[in-house]
Amino acid sequence: MNKLYYRYGAMNSGKTTLLLQVAHNYEERGMKVLILKPKIDTKGDQYIVTRIGLKRKVDHLIEENEKLEDYLKSIDDDIECILVDESQFLTKEQVDDLYKFTKLKDTSVICYGLRSDFKTNAFPGSLRLFELADIMEELYTTCRCGKRAKFNGRIVNGEFTYDGDQVAIDGVNQIEYESLCGKCYLEKVLKLSKEDYNGFTKEDIKNRLLIYKEENKTENIENLQLIRNELRKYKKTMLTLLRDEIDKELDEKEYTKTLK
Ligand SMILES: [Zn+2]
Repeated sequence: MNKLYYRYGAMNSGKTTLLLQVAHNYEERGMKVLILKPKIDTKGDQYIVTRIGLKRKVDHLIEENEKLEDYLKSIDDDIECILVDESQFLTKEQVDDLYKFTKLKDTSVICYGLRSDFKTNAFPGSLRLFELADIMEELYTTCRCGKRAKFNGRIVNGEFTYDGDQVAIDGVNQIEYESLCGKCYLEKVLKLSKEDYNGFTKEDIKNRLLIYKEENKTENIENLQLIRNELRKYKKTMLTLLRDEIDKELDEKEYTKTLK
């Protein structure tokens, strides 16, 4: 095996837990692994800590501008695999060194890390890993709304924010993160809504629906043409609301029917 893997995901996608599980699997079969972590991730210091309480000392903390090649050249031949936690914090050069190591030392390296920062931009390490990795695997986690989460929203003092440095460690200085799907990221972090985007509010559409219903009763051709144009303008949103309204009415009718 001589492959560079990048297993990436949003926060809370179980990356570190999976890393420790993989280490355990190797060791159970009598094979040696090394666990590395960039020092910039101060969480746990010398240790890797997971949200579910697992803990393990790392074999090597990577300094911010360390020439990783020197360390990689020094490791023993009987190492089967290198596992890197929080690899988004590696520099481009350090990822290059890991890649060279996989090919020239015939040993696999599995990097675990984030896809992007709280502004949806790649970290230098993740960007280089996306460029170089032989195998990329996405780890999934779920947004509060139930959809697949891809992004990390930064929360400072309970509020989502779009300001600040790229690196701010979870749990330090009142900073927390929440994994979000694309839609929730736009709504909660960038404060964008469908209504802003479409240029009309739900209220506007509800009013149009009332008029639609009234006018529909008149069976006047001109009114119907007007309504058709309205429907075109509001497209999906209006049709969805119209469907919901009809559903509601049907439900009510069914209900009163069962009462009778
Ligand atoms: Zn969501």
